[in-house]
Amino acid sequence: MQNLSDNEWIAQTTYCVAELYSRGTQQTLDLGKFQSNGNGHAEDNLIAALVAQTTNGAIAHGTYDLLIILNRSPCTSLMPELKANHVPACMTRLIDLQTNGLGNGQWRFNIQLNYRHLYGGNPATNWNRALNAFGVQQGAASGMAIMHGEGINDVSVVIEMSKLQ
Ligand SMILES: [Zn+2]
Repeated sequence: MQNLSDNEWIAQTTYCVAELYSRGTQQTLDLGKFQSNGNGHAEDNLIAALVAQTTNGAIAHGTYDLLIILNRSPCTSLMPELKANHVPACMTRLIDLQTNGLGNGQWRFNIQLNYRHLYGGNPATNWNRALNAFGVQQGAASGMAIMHGEGINDVSVVIEMSKLQ
C-alpha cells in the first residue's frame, strides 16, 4: 500500500490509498492512490477502479477486506449535494459497496476505513463536520470498521452534533 505525503494528509483535495486482502489466498492487491478531480471525489475514482478491475477479471470473484485510508472522511448525503450529475455522496456509495458488493454480490468487500480529519466542507464549518460525523456513524452501522481520526471528539463538533440529535 502506498503512503500519503505530509502535504496530501492536510490537503483540501481529498486523497486516499486502498488495498484488497483475500483471507482465502492471503494475497494483497495494491489498488493505488486516488484523489478528487474532474471525474469525481477520491472515493468515486477508487470505486471506478474496483469496477474496472472486477469487470475485466483482474480481481477474482470472492470476499475481500478493502482497506481505505483517507485524509478526510467520506462526504455524506446529510450535507447538501456536493457532486455534479446527482452522483450519490461517497459514504452512500461506500455503504452500498459494503452491503451489496459488485456484480450482484460475486465480489464482496468488508470495508475498513481509516480517516484523519472529518470532512468539513468548503468553507469548512463544525456544522458540516457534525453532519459528516453522523455520516461516519451510518457507515459503521452498515458494518464497516472505521478508525476515527482527529476531530471526532472535538468539543465544538460534539456541540454541533448535540444540536442535531
Ligand atoms: Zn465525497
